[in-house]
Amino acid sequence: MIRGPSRGRRNLVLACALIFLLAWGAHRATSQSAYDLVIVNGLIVDGTGRPGFRADLGIRNGRIEKTGSLAAAPARAKMDAQGQVISPGFIDVHVHIEDQIERSTHRFVADNFLLQGVTTVITGNCGRSARDMAAFFRKLARLKLAINVATLVGHNTLRQQVCGARRKPTPEQMARLEAQVRAGIEAGALGFSTGLGYKPGLFASEEEVVALVRVTAQEAAVYATHLRDEAAEGKAALDEAVRTAERAGAPKLHISHFKAAGHSQWGTARARLDGARQAAGKQTRLTADMYPYTAVSSTLEYLIPPEVFPLLGGPAAARPKNLARAIDLTLEKLRRDGWPDYSNVRVAFSEKQKEWIGRTIPDIVRSQPGGAASVRDQAAWILKNQARGDIQIIAEEMSEQDVRQLITAPDMVFGSDSSVHYRGLGQPHPRGAGTFPRIFADYVRNQKLLTLEDAVRRATGLAAEIFGLPDRGFIREGYWADIVIFDPARLQDRATFEDPWKPPEGIACVIVNGVIAVRGTKLTGAMAGRPVRRVARGPR
Ligand SMILES: [Zn+2]
Repeated sequence: MIRGPSRGRRNLVLACALIFLLAWGAHRATSQSAYDLVIVNGLIVDGTGRPGFRADLGIRNGRIEKTGSLAAAPARAKMDAQGQVISPGFIDVHVHIEDQIERSTHRFVADNFLLQGVTTVITGNCGRSARDMAAFFRKLARLKLAINVATLVGHNTLRQQVCGARRKPTPEQMARLEAQVRAGIEAGALGFSTGLGYKPGLFASEEEVVALVRVTAQEAAVYATHLRDEAAEGKAALDEAVRTAERAGAPKLHISHFKAAGHSQWGTARARLDGARQAAGKQTRLTADMYPYTAVSSTLEYLIPPEVFPLLGGPAAARPKNLARAIDLTLEKLRRDGWPDYSNVRVAFSEKQKEWIGRTIPDIVRSQPGGAASVRDQAAWILKNQARGDIQIIAEEMSEQDVRQLITAPDMVFGSDSSVHYRGLGQPHPRGAGTFPRIFADYVRNQKLLTLEDAVRRATGLAAEIFGLPDRGFIREGYWADIVIFDPARLQDRATFEDPWKPPEGIACVIVNGVIAVRGTKLTGAMAGRPVRRVARGPR
């Protein structure tokens, strides 16, 4: 038969071709052209705010190499994200981890951030940062990092070193402060932060801050501020920030953890922020961050008005008259802010007095020897203990209505205002483990105040854009593969004031620079984070 051999030969050719293709495929799969990871079947919400779309994602060498149809593409690993959202990793723009970085010797773990989908954090907020930025970045480069870390350069830290609590720096001191802000930004800090409600920032004049923000503006970097006051004097404090930015010619003014604290201020938050945005005008872009809770966490300084601190320092503190005056002023603030006493304030952490943790101030004062718990006794206790520096508080200060109205404000992004939580250490604010999932559960899914795409945009692309994070914040070819994959129907924070460590539900996977760091609520132990430096703009 003629066709027999012919068919045999054809089969042989086909078999050879198949072997060749398999070999080629295997070669491709192990060669440079194979993706490290392909994620298929997910809904990509890319961080720009545009509607989610179905596409696959190819990751190689830590970067997003391709979005498109990649089901058949060669890959070392494949992941099916059916029913899930693929989002850029969340960017927590307001954390406080520089001390923890400085104490770390080999590894910097960040479980509570990773488990809520955060892949990049910005530290150095509220005027508190590493002292020497170049050394800080060298340290980051030496450490194995679980997440990407960026920083601001902090006013209080520099000032403490240069002129402490002095009201007005000498011209020489001023020049040193300016040089250090510039050096910090040139070393890679994203911008400059103040904490004008804390020592020693609260001693600084508007003039001093304007001069330092001017340096920041010359570098086209962001100026982020913890306002002088966030309660009854908050309007004046916000006016000062806008005026400072305007006088310094700052292109970017960012208000940290914006809020209207104090019962007397409830209902004013959104109008206040919108007014400030209008006042900032076109020259300065006003942005802000917030956390989705009605309680603040801070130190005891938070409860004390700035004019009290000069009465407490040095020999002045010994005079009973000064203490009485300090108590009067502290209680005046309490009344202005609209509270009858300090029963809304709990101790979250105390190094030396573990028995105070979790209890309200009146409760603690009552249990002291001879302690009544008049509001005057409470203020005296606050003033006596504020200098210890080991006490963290949590205070119910804001209204849920204000939180709801702020979350939809233009240019509002999110920050947990948190550190790494080490289990068993104090009773931290649950925002450190719940901020991002809570936004998607409460404000997107339940209350429908934000669309999924808008919430992702605020948690990722908008944050990256405000702070100038290079190649992050979007699902975009060529960008770093920082990714969180979650089920929007199930994403839910579970951390509470009673159990602030409880990780959220509904996150399937967290990827940092192309490496899987969380899979199904379990940490993989990957340490793929990187230091994130500001990319200097071109020659001026
Ligand atoms: Zn702050």
